[in-house]
Amino acid sequence: MRKKTHKILVGNIQIGGGNPVIIQSMTNTDTADINATAEQILELSEAGSEIVRITVDCPESATAVPKIIDIVRRKSSVPIVGDFHFNGHVLLEKFPEMAQVLDKYRINPGNVGRGKGRDENFERILTIAKKYSKPIRIGVNGGSLNQELLDLKMDENQKAGSLRSDGEIFEEVMVESVVSSANFAVKFGIQEDKIILSAKVSEPRSLIRIHQELSQKTEFPIHLGLTEAGGGIPGIVSSTAALSVLLHEGIGDTIRVSITPGISESRTKEVEVAREILQSLELRSFTPKITSCPGCGRTTGNDFQKFSETIASEIKLQMPFWKKKYSGAENLKIAVMGCIVNGPGEARNADIGIFFPGKGEGELATVFVDGKQAGVLSGKNLPERFLRMVEEYLMNNK
Ligand code: SF4
Repeated sequence: MRKKTHKILVGNIQIGGGNPVIIQSMTNTDTADINATAEQILELSEAGSEIVRITVDCPESATAVPKIIDIVRRKSSVPIVGDFHFNGHVLLEKFPEMAQVLDKYRINPGNVGRGKGRDENFERILTIAKKYSKPIRIGVNGGSLNQELLDLKMDENQKAGSLRSDGEIFEEVMVESVVSSANFAVKFGIQEDKIILSAKVSEPRSLIRIHQELSQKTEFPIHLGLTEAGGGIPGIVSSTAALSVLLHEGIGDTIRVSITPGISESRTKEVEVAREILQSLELRSFTPKITSCPGCGRTTGNDFQKFSETIASEIKLQMPFWKKKYSGAENLKIAVMGCIVNGPGEARNADIGIFFPGKGEGELATVFVDGKQAGVLSGKNLPERFLRMVEEYLMNNK
């Protein structure tokens, strides 16, 4: 059961209030490079990012924003969010054209100043958000948490002789900081349906605890992300582990997977992972689900492995076309199995399934459609022939 949150509108995308969990990502181009940034926004949007955030950190990037959005809007309506730290109050005031065209401001109340200046600068950002009626994300990060508040809480804890650990105090301050900033914004006149919260840390179990607490305390939509998750498999697994627990508990209205891309890796990888997380938890459907066994001593040839690899990559390639041609193509369930142990059962449970005989495999496989045996494929070109059957299935069931 999803936790109840306010519904807010970012550009043309609805967040919270029972809407599907939305996928976000962030560019890593220099925002001052107009063409590169516009191109990457389009790439991320094409890959499935439903909101894209860009860094706005200096006058050059602020000046570039309207031009970037102008290019993007020729092809896509994906909402574009400005990411502000330290000088957001100054840039938003100095560059009104930029403030007007962005669909949302991401602000970090922990790093807009110190002491009294923090509130004043935060108010300056809220004034602009109010003026242009823009939604804001109040995003607290473990790495830029309000240090004064943290020190104060640590001192209080020590003086009280409490046995609470520094980690517990830190998590409490994360929650308190984001909730108090949101309350401050509401008191200042920002409508409740214009606020999203985030409280990102880089440790999965801490992220889970913080959000379990945060979701009890507010009804603002929550943007989930394990920040600085790392790269490669560890980054993907840490993000998946943390986000899955929360999403399964109904917490989280939008997500971002913050993985460090490899030098030759596309930025869109993070979108791909986010989609897989939501699809595997059955929260969203983007592409047919392929049930495929890992193979074992019964698949000693590599025909099954090659076959399942080809099917997965071909389906990925075909999906953009299939989605347009066959409604509900993304809900299709396919099984690709290595032998007769679990093959017939899984093939029967899928919309369309295929299994090899095992041991040496070869060019022979049995196909099931809607739970009934539909034939045996033998000879060359098994992947092409099976894919034709998949498309026929979609054609007959659209
Ligand atoms: S279905 Fe057959 S080949 Fe695949 S893992 Fe199970 S026993 Fe092994």
